[in-house]
Amino acid sequence: MAQQHVPPTPNNFHLWFKYVIGTAPDLKRAIDILVSNKRKFDATTNHALFDTYIGSAGADAAVVHKVSQQLHGVMDSAKQYLTAAIADNRLQMEAIDDVADGRYNGVDPKLLIENLVSELARATERAAKLETSFAEKSRELDTIRDSLDKSEQRARTDTLTGLPNRRALEEFFRQAQIEAMEKDQPLSVLLIDVDHFKTFNDNFGHGVGDQVLRLVAKAVRDRLRDSDLPARYGGEELIAVLPCADLESCGNVAEAIRRAIAECQFTRRSTGEILPQITVSIGVGQFQFGESMTDLIDRCDRALYLAKKLGRNRVITELELDRKLAAG
Ligand code: GH3
Ligand code: MG
Ligand code: MG
Repeated sequence: MAQQHVPPTPNNFHLWFKYVIGTAPDLKRAIDILVSNKRKFDATTNHALFDTYIGSAGADAAVVHKVSQQLHGVMDSAKQYLTAAIADNRLQMEAIDDVADGRYNGVDPKLLIENLVSELARATERAAKLETSFAEKSRELDTIRDSLDKSEQRARTDTLTGLPNRRALEEFFRQAQIEAMEKDQPLSVLLIDVDHFKTFNDNFGHGVGDQVLRLVAKAVRDRLRDSDLPARYGGEELIAVLPCADLESCGNVAEAIRRAIAECQFTRRSTGEILPQITVSIGVGQFQFGESMTDLIDRCDRALYLAKKLGRNRVITELELDRKLAAG
């Protein structure tokens, strides 16, 4: 910390302690990239790092605890199985050792062979039983793994729209920002807000509003690449992270989304009634080296606010935000 002139605050200590013990590989990579690029660890960067790698980590604790409990259960089962298998194997070895030790010396060789054959038959039977029990355990493990996969998937998905939720967004962004910094590639974000949605809900009811939100989510998803991440950011706000896209190309995608939604004809599913046009406003921003997701989304939000102010149903990028500021 002294080498990088990082002020000794509790948050910085927390962050750098985690860096030194190496339990958070993402954090380690991010700091290493910043150091190798000779970036200053000023208040903004320190805050961004804390926000990204420590701030939301507490939320994962409950999930980690649950998974760890389930894993303990699986390990107990495996241990029981192995103990039984080892004990059984020992019995078998003892029986064969008896023959090998010559304890049966002088005994009729026919009887000896019969003994060996019957011991072998018992061993085969025991092996078959163990195999069945092992197959059962494997199936149990498969079921546990499936339910873990499903609950992980649920924990990352928004139930209304089926889009990834905020948690999935944070995880995706963390990876995307590291990759952007490592490979010196652009990374952009677009923030979408449905226009006058409160009035729409008031006029047509929350249920119809929900149906519209699902269709808006689909319109967004349909216009993104597989490598992008759409997510539900909050109420009627959606977001998309576009790796390898600069401000201009992200602005173009945002414009395609805006147009598609504005041109969409929404009908009330129950009655077939044609609903009024739905529009969205979109703010676009590009990731700056070392900043947190919160800071980037903050700029998108300001661009979005400007889009609302200028009349809604439009896309504004942070570039226009800067121009507006310069013009006073
Ligand atoms: P603006 O153009 O300025 O964005 O106006 P607005 O009415 O969309 O904005 P405001 O923030 O005042 O209201 C947002 C509304 O979005 C309020 C709430 O009823 C609606 N909303 C938020 N989440 C949901 C949801 O899950 N389902 C439905 N149906 N409506 C939602
Ligand atoms: Mg809103
Ligand atoms: Mg709105």
